[in-house]
Amino acid sequence: MNDCCNNKNGGNKGNENKLLPIKFICPVNQQQYIEVAKKTILQHIKAPWENKLDEQKYYFCDDPDCDVVYFGLNGSIINKSELRTVVGKKEKSDNELICYCFGVSKSLAKKNPQIKTYITQQTKEHNCSCDVKNPSGRCCLKDFPKMH
Ligand SMILES: [Zn+2]
Repeated sequence: MNDCCNNKNGGNKGNENKLLPIKFICPVNQQQYIEVAKKTILQHIKAPWENKLDEQKYYFCDDPDCDVVYFGLNGSIINKSELRTVVGKKEKSDNELICYCFGVSKSLAKKNPQIKTYITQQTKEHNCSCDVKNPSGRCCLKDFPKMH
């Protein structure tokens, strides 16, 4: 099991497809986003047995103003409505989850700063599962509201 928090280069773990980009442009908002594992998408997409993924790399768009959550190298897109998980960082409401491992919303994180300390500790001990539970496939700590 890899430490998701050390996954800074976008989780390009294998040595297959080295020539393909780790970042790619969302076909809707035209911003660059980082690669996400197919395994992660399968944890969040509705009826994955019907919504077959193609043999290609996929990327995660985190823009709250863009309906696309995942997009493929071939330009195919998977919208919010095709997921069974609400992607907190794509919602303007503070009540959706930002940490899927421990069930923390942005509003809860704002109310209780100790939660972030707790999660930081858990990630150090490799007790988190951001690589699959978080729709982005990445560590949630960067999604936490800044505390002053
Ligand atoms: Zn997008």
